[in-house]
Amino acid sequence: MKDLKELKRNELIKELKNAGFPAYRGEQVFNWLYKNGISETEKMKNIPGELKEYLNDNYEITDLKEKAKSQAADGTIKYLWELKDGENIEGVYLPFPESARHSACISTQVGCGLGCSFCATGINGLERNLTTAEIIDQVLKIQADISRDEFAEPRLSNIVFMGMGEPLANFENLMQAVEIINSDNGLNIGMRKMTISTVGLVPEIKKLADRNDQIGLAVSLHAPNDRLRNKIMPINKKYNLNQLLTAVIDYIEKTGRRVTFEYVLMDSVNDSPELAVQLVELLRGINCHVNLIPANPVPELNIKKPVQKVIDSFYSTLDNNGIQVSLRREMGSQIDAACGQLKRQES
Ligand code: SF4
Repeated sequence: MKDLKELKRNELIKELKNAGFPAYRGEQVFNWLYKNGISETEKMKNIPGELKEYLNDNYEITDLKEKAKSQAADGTIKYLWELKDGENIEGVYLPFPESARHSACISTQVGCGLGCSFCATGINGLERNLTTAEIIDQVLKIQADISRDEFAEPRLSNIVFMGMGEPLANFENLMQAVEIINSDNGLNIGMRKMTISTVGLVPEIKKLADRNDQIGLAVSLHAPNDRLRNKIMPINKKYNLNQLLTAVIDYIEKTGRRVTFEYVLMDSVNDSPELAVQLVELLRGINCHVNLIPANPVPELNIKKPVQKVIDSFYSTLDNNGIQVSLRREMGSQIDAACGQLKRQES
């Protein structure tokens, strides 16, 4: 059965029109879903019984079940939801009071099949892609939870697709979700306020560049040469650094947007002064920003965070050589909600 949360506004209106309902009814249903955060037709007050019955008979409406929720002292909230087939996914709310931003980190797959050596999500491999509705409903659930009253303020302002899974490996479902989230009759979150993270799926980066949606692109780099990157990110054996950077430069040229490179600093893996110099050489002249992320410990994988002196020195090498760089605030690390730490078990 089709899911109502997989349809864009115009698609929903068209389907209901084809079933004999006037266009404004489709509009009303869309509003209930995205302006009011309602997932049950019974609660859609201005919808006539005949339409409710039609919707119940012909569509399902994904409604993620919250299994666990934990809040860190910095306000970060991690959610664990159960899907219809019993699988679990996680999403995270990240508040940035200093800039009045309210951000949601959203999952796109159950698990991940790309096997990066430092990542908790990939430990058990890929189970399946999330549907468009499952991607969108994470946003709706977080919005409902942070609203002080009925889906009102504060509104989510930013979405990062950096949760469980490789977003670009689920391209079609992701882009449909992005369009619905962006719709001004829906959640109305601007394309420029959304960021897709990738380990470097070159064909999909090209597709994204051709679409020119103005969505942000963040590339998980984590190593400045093929030898090391092959070791910690198997995807590099398929698309090497040269192919990846060619696609990224094409993205920048087509969209005019600066790209972010994520670099998780792992103790004795990729944090040496020589590698910092190599990174400078690799990225020189590219319109980019490097986000250094001190690794959060993943005991199962023996991943450790470098000591502060090493982090500072790596940062300075980039900064002193004209690379725009920032050090990510380690939000949510007390609750395992930082990059590479989401997994599908309840902990
Ligand atoms: S870092 Fe991303 S791509 Fe790599 S295994 Fe983890 S979720 Fe998959």
